[in-house]
Amino acid sequence: MPDCIFCRIAAGGIPASIVYQDDRIVAFRDLHPQAPVHLLLIPRRHMTNLAAAEAGDAALLGELLIAASRLAVSEGVSESGYRVVANTHRDGGQSVDHLHFHLLGGRALSWPPG
Ligand code: 5GP
Ligand code: ZN
Repeated sequence: MPDCIFCRIAAGGIPASIVYQDDRIVAFRDLHPQAPVHLLLIPRRHMTNLAAAEAGDAALLGELLIAASRLAVSEGVSESGYRVVANTHRDGGQSVDHLHFHLLGGRALSWPPG
């Protein structure tokens, strides 16, 4: 997926403010943060979104959520609270077609979302 912006970030081809990475996942700061803490967590392997997830992806998806939980601690929002969101397809507001979880925190987030 050479034209996928998040594949390129994962491969180091586009600079990003990376806060965590291992052999399977990368977490970096959103270019247009919507909250004081706004990270994106992605698998290195291209997956379009949650709608494309299969049973064999369960461990990888779990690793992304555990990483979000740990990053919430290091970002200082674990106690105050945060939200983890995977916008999916058109009505979900997905604009980048590489699976990503947003980690948002550092302010009170309204509910329901718009
Ligand atoms: P979506 O709208 O698909 O749920 O989220 C995509 C997110 O990616 C947006 O919040 C947008 O600001 C972020 N984004 C898009 N392009 C880049 C980029 O090149 N670098 C970084 N760090 N974030 C990006
Ligand atoms: Zn990709």
